[in-house]
Amino acid sequence: MSDDKRDMRRDMGRDIQSNDSNGYAKIDQYNPVAVGRMSAHVHALLTELGEDPAREGLVKTPERVSKALQYLTHGYGLDPAQILRSAMFREEYQQMVIVRDIEIYSLCEHHMLPFFGKAHVAYIPNGHIVGLSKIPRVVDAFARRLQVQERLTVDIRNCIEETLKPMGVAVVIEAQHLCMIMRGIQKQHSIATTSAFTGEFNSEKTRAEFMRLITNNSRG
Ligand SMILES: [Zn+2]
Repeated sequence: MSDDKRDMRRDMGRDIQSNDSNGYAKIDQYNPVAVGRMSAHVHALLTELGEDPAREGLVKTPERVSKALQYLTHGYGLDPAQILRSAMFREEYQQMVIVRDIEIYSLCEHHMLPFFGKAHVAYIPNGHIVGLSKIPRVVDAFARRLQVQERLTVDIRNCIEETLKPMGVAVVIEAQHLCMIMRGIQKQHSIATTSAFTGEFNSEKTRAEFMRLITNNSRG
């Protein structure tokens, strides 16, 4: 990564954090230099697709696409471990903590098309708990990058494992991939499920309890 790009990531990260008031990062500031460069590429892409980038509906499309892509990948500017460390508390609670049905929106790195669905995250504290709103933020910080669902699942698990050092972590993600739904095979309703566990969740009893808790009542 060039210094220039690193600066951009850092700047975006700062903007994201300073605008964050209610748990979810939101950016309304963009790197104008990067937007300019990306727009030129999107302009060329439109031409390559046989479009006329000068027609009315497309005039601002390169800029809009560039800003959308910056937003959809703003996780590169976030430090997920720092998000957790910012709200860790000593606490002797040792029961399973579950945050269920966390919406995820990510981009598959093979096609740069969206995949989206839900993440379920659990951990068993070992002396420290974390503010509950931070779990969805960690999920988002990893999802807002180019990803594959498998790595996204493991990234979230490892971050919680290494930062919080709990008795165990469980992550399950269920997602639909537009690259599957829109192209080629067109399996409209297929959902990919991935999971990753550590520690106590490797025991069948604990894992079964977690699976029961995330499936109970969750579909209305
Ligand atoms: Zn794909």
